[in-house]
Parts: sequence; structure tokens; C-alpha cells
Amino acid sequence: MSDPVLELIQKNNLGYTVSGRDYLISCLNPEHPDSNPSFRVDRVTGVAHCFACGFKTNLFKYYGVFTNPVPMKIAALKEKLAVLKTFGQELELPNGYTPWTKTFRGISPKTLKHFGAFYTNKEEKLVDRIIFPISDITGKTQVYVGRHKLSNGNPRYLNYPSGVKTPLFPAHLPQGHKSVVLVEGLFDMLNLYDNGCENVVCCFGTNTLQNDTKQKLLPFRAQGITHVYILFDGDEAGRKAAKLLKPLIEDEGFVVEVVDLPDDVDPGELDAEDIRGIIEYTTK
Ligand SMILES: [Zn+2]
Repeated sequence: MSDPVLELIQKNNLGYTVSGRDYLISCLNPEHPDSNPSFRVDRVTGVAHCFACGFKTNLFKYYGVFTNPVPMKIAALKEKLAVLKTFGQELELPNGYTPWTKTFRGISPKTLKHFGAFYTNKEEKLVDRIIFPISDITGKTQVYVGRHKLSNGNPRYLNYPSGVKTPLFPAHLPQGHKSVVLVEGLFDMLNLYDNGCENVVCCFGTNTLQNDTKQKLLPFRAQGITHVYILFDGDEAGRKAAKLLKPLIEDEGFVVEVVDLPDDVDPGELDAEDIRGIIEYTTK
């Protein structure tokens, strides 16, 4: 199969390595002596970006090579279709659906409303829970996640229906973000969002993400996200999971950084000032 991006790299004698969906080469910005190649070139489109100095170009344009735009448009379209095909049918609203209007565990009604929180007294499996509709990139609800109103409620979290793959939540970020902050739990996500961090998503526990990294991250690639900041719990399990997931997410073409929290601190407990620091750090 012809590979015009690779041909261009070889013709110009650029050293390269393959990293996920990208080629990694030394930065083409003459003002950036790049000893640790950090210049990512999309293997299909030639779109290139240096994450160290910010230099952006397209390899074809850079070398003044005419390319047929059609294959690239097809590649972009295929990616979008893959996203759409990933998930299934939409769920209906449960009986007795009532929007949630109060504060819950310190999360403001505004944030809870933003994420569609509700409760029901009629659907037996879901009573006594605050419930969130988890939708895919197309906006279709795939699964309901209900947290028990009581801290010692059993089980604390319940997926309905059970056995459905849970997308990262939310699947859609406000426009204009290049990075996403990845947290473990639903209420970690809600706490960060409630304190002004808009580009935060949760994975509902780290195990599920290990199995479906590609499928779950594809929607974020399609939204132009390039950086993932892993912000897991400050305990052994969180650190282990972050270490394990970092290379898996890198393989999908993202730049990944692990943000380590102090011992026994989880993102659900961070206060407004802590979160301001995280926002500053992850949008630098
Ligand atoms: Zn550079």
C-alpha cells in the first residue's frame, strides 16, 4: 500500500519512529534543537505538531509537495464513521423519571443538571439512587449509572442495564480543548467540573478502560484532543493503573502525562484551590 507520508519522511532522510497513529521525528522548527524527538506526524494526513515548542505544519506543505486531498478526507471520514458505529441503540427514560434539583454530596444542582442527573421512585432497580444517563458521542444514552443516596448503600454504584460497555463520561467536551483530564470515578469528574474544570472525563474504574482503550478514546481524537492528563487516586491501585494505562493511551496517538496526587487523596476530595491549580497545569 502506498504510504505518502512515510515516503516523504524517507526522501528527506528524517529519522523516525512509529508511535501509535503517528510518526515521531525531530522537530522541523529551526529554532528548536530537538534532541528527544517530540514532533508528531499523522501517518495518514501528514498533519504535524511539536508538543515541546508548539510548532505546527503539514509535512506535505512544508516540503512543497502537492497531495491529493481525497485520501485524507476519506481517512477522516472513516474515523468519524468508526466512532458512530462504536456504540448501539439508545435507551428509553426509566419510568418515574424526575430531574434532580438539589445539591448532592457537595456537587451543585447546576452541575448535576448539566449531566442530566435524575431519580425515580417507580423503577424498582433504580430507586434510592441519583442516576446519570451515560451517552455516546452521538448523544444516545447507552447506560444509566446510579449512585446510592447513602454512602453505605449496596451496591454503591449500579449500571442499568448491566453488562453494557460504558463510554468515558462525558463523551463530548466543550469546543476548543486540546487536552482532557482523565479521572477514575463519576464523582471525581463531577467535583472537578463543579469547580471549573470543563475538560474532565471519568472512566468508571480503571479496569474497563484497559480493555477498550482504542474504542473509548476514539471520540476524543475525533474532537481534536491531543493530550491526556491521568489524574487517578493517590493510592497504590491508582498509581498502578496510571502506569499501566499510560502506554496504552499513547498507542492511540495521545501525549500522556500522569499527575500524581499526595497519598490517600482522590480527585473527588480536591477543593476549589487545588482544582484551580490543576486547570492551570493542564491547560499550559
Ligand atoms: Zn519543536
